[in-house]
Order: sequence, then C-alpha cells, then structure tokens
Amino acid sequence: MARWILKQEKEERASLLKFRDRQLSCQLLQEIKLKGKCLKEKLGRRPVFMEVCGTHTVAFSKTGLRKALEEIVDLRSGPGCPVCVTDQEDIDRMIQLSSLENVVLGTFGDMVRVPGSRTSLEQEKARGAWVKIFYSPSDAVQWALRNPGKQMIFLGIGFETTAPVVALSIREAEDLGVKNYSVYSVHKLVIPALRALLNDKGPGVDGFILPGHVSAVIGRKAFGFLAQEFNIPGVIAGFEPMDLLGALENLIYQMDRGECRIDNEYSRLVREEGNKTAQTVIREFFDTAEGSWRGLGKIPASSLVLQDNLQKYDALKRFPVEISRPFNKEGCRCGEVLTGKIVPTFCGMFGKECTPSRPVGPCMVSSEGACSAYFHYDFRE
Ligand code: SF4
Repeated sequence: MARWILKQEKEERASLLKFRDRQLSCQLLQEIKLKGKCLKEKLGRRPVFMEVCGTHTVAFSKTGLRKALEEIVDLRSGPGCPVCVTDQEDIDRMIQLSSLENVVLGTFGDMVRVPGSRTSLEQEKARGAWVKIFYSPSDAVQWALRNPGKQMIFLGIGFETTAPVVALSIREAEDLGVKNYSVYSVHKLVIPALRALLNDKGPGVDGFILPGHVSAVIGRKAFGFLAQEFNIPGVIAGFEPMDLLGALENLIYQMDRGECRIDNEYSRLVREEGNKTAQTVIREFFDTAEGSWRGLGKIPASSLVLQDNLQKYDALKRFPVEISRPFNKEGCRCGEVLTGKIVPTFCGMFGKECTPSRPVGPCMVSSEGACSAYFHYDFRE
C-alpha cells in the first residue's frame, strides 16, 4: 500500500514538474513573444488580458513572466482576491464584532492586517481584542469546542472555493453540538462580478485568464457567457509557468484568428460541469444575496448568505452591531486596481506611503493582492 502511494506521489510530482520545466517554458515564451508581437502590430496596441484570480496575479509576477512580456501583452488584475474585494463596510463590521465582550474572531491570516476605516483587526488585537488566525474553519470549530465559555465567530471570506469548507464547518459544529460557533459570511461569487465588470464597460479586456480554483468548483461551462454574450475569449489556467504561458498562447492564437471560445487549459483539475459535490454543499447551506464589492459596488445575487434555517450559526443575526459611516482611505486606488482600470504602479501611493509593512489598502496586504505582488516581485527598487 505504502509503495503504491509512493508511486502515485512520484507520478504526480513528475507530471507537475512538466509544468515547471525551464527549457520548455523558455521555448514557449519565445514563441509567445513572436506571435504576440505580430498580434500587437495587427491591433496597433498590446492586447489586454485580465488575470481574474489573485493567485494568477501573484504567479505572473513571481515567475517574472509579467516583466518578460510587458512589451507584448498588457496584463491587468481582476476582482479575484477575496480579501481585497471585501467591502470596507464589512471590514468595519468585523472589527466592531471583535470588540464585543466574550467574542473571539477567527480568520484566515491576511484579513488581520487589512485597514478598516479607522483601525484594523491587528490594531484591535494589540489593544486586547481576541483575534485568532486559523488555517481551516474546522480548527475554529475545534477551538470553540474546547472553549465553551467563549463565542467563536469565523470570518467566511472567499469565493466558491472557500464556501464549501465553511459550510462543512457548520455541519461539524452541528454534529459535535457546538453552540458557541458562528460564521460571518462574506463569500462572493465570481460570475456575477465578471458580468458587472463587463456591463460597466470595464477596462476594455480582450481576453480572460480564468481562475483555476474557482473553475474546479463551477466548471468550464459556467464561463460560456463571456464568449457567447460578450464576444470575449477566456482560458482556464493552472498556476505553474507552463500553465500561464499556455493560457497566453491560447488567447493570442484565438485573437489572431478571430476566434472566441472558453478553453480549459487546466483539465488536470477542471471539468466541464465542475465539482457537483461542492456545488451541492453550497446550495444546501447558502442562499445568494446582493453583495457589496470593493471597486464594483453592489451586485445582485453575488454573495452567499447562510440560509434561514441556519440562523443560529449566522454571526450577524446573533451579534448585530452598529458601525459608523465607512470610508476608504483617501488616495487609495484599490477599486481601480481590482477592476483592471489601472495597474498598481499608477497609484500615487504605491511604494511610497503604501508598502507591505505600512499598507494603506487591502491590495497591498493580501498575499493575493496585486499591489503586494507588484511590490514584491515586479517593481521593487
Ligand atoms: S498602492 Fe496602496 S494605496 Fe495604492 S491602490 Fe494599492 S493598496 Fe491602495
């Protein structure tokens, strides 16, 4: 048995290494440069491709591909960093919840440092608030089980990928009879955000590099409307260098030939219909509701809220809090970064008043934030 697992692991690693192969990557890069140059000449400008997912934004920067191809393609970030798109009002409400007596806020790491209108969870923690970082919501349930005298509120932040895991933590709490666990759900859905982006006229995107993780849940077909209704091609991609290059090559090829499809270049993980089990879990626990997005405003049916029969796990129902009027930091252009209208370096505060150690906006905090990625890998002096 152990030998079989070892063999499978070795095969998986070998197959992954193919997507990191330096020689193959360099060959494909040269090809893209040649084909991209022709397309640029044909268009009279660089084609604009949006990497919807924050992990893609980081991958393009970290691999050096953004820099290597900057003369050929204009790569813009999209609304795919969950911490970054969380609205200021929600952040302020989370901070307010942390001030409640006997409440412990559980969260993934990035959210702690995101500046709210007046303070951050990190600052409140320094003043004595209980904020705990967890790697999984299940750990938060277990913590609540061990500490029945405290109320654990877990911040459910993320897209279709995170929602099933948070839903299962509620099932775990139910099964264990944990009564001091609740969730503040600000989960968001990618498809309504893309529609809003395109209906808003957006940044004039020629093609989308579509999120590999979210696609694994919702499937390739869910993105068909981009080609059918908006006449914009898209490619679902993984996160290794060959994945990124494959997606760019595909988009350049489609544009050059006047084609428009949604292709799946991440077929090792993504299926046509997605992951039915995860979709069922989402439907069982959540309803859709209007969501507030940084940069995109209010979008109908774009967020996931707990169903009525799960109110005892809904932190906002159990602990309603009032907040003062939220406001974004003056000069911070995260909203424009998240909608691809500008690249981070266009923000006057980039690398000056705003750095990863003194972030002004969430895009400089999150490990998936565009400003942070540009600062760490692309434009650091
Ligand atoms: S550089 Fe800082 S202030 Fe400017 S958009 Fe990014 S996070 Fe906001």
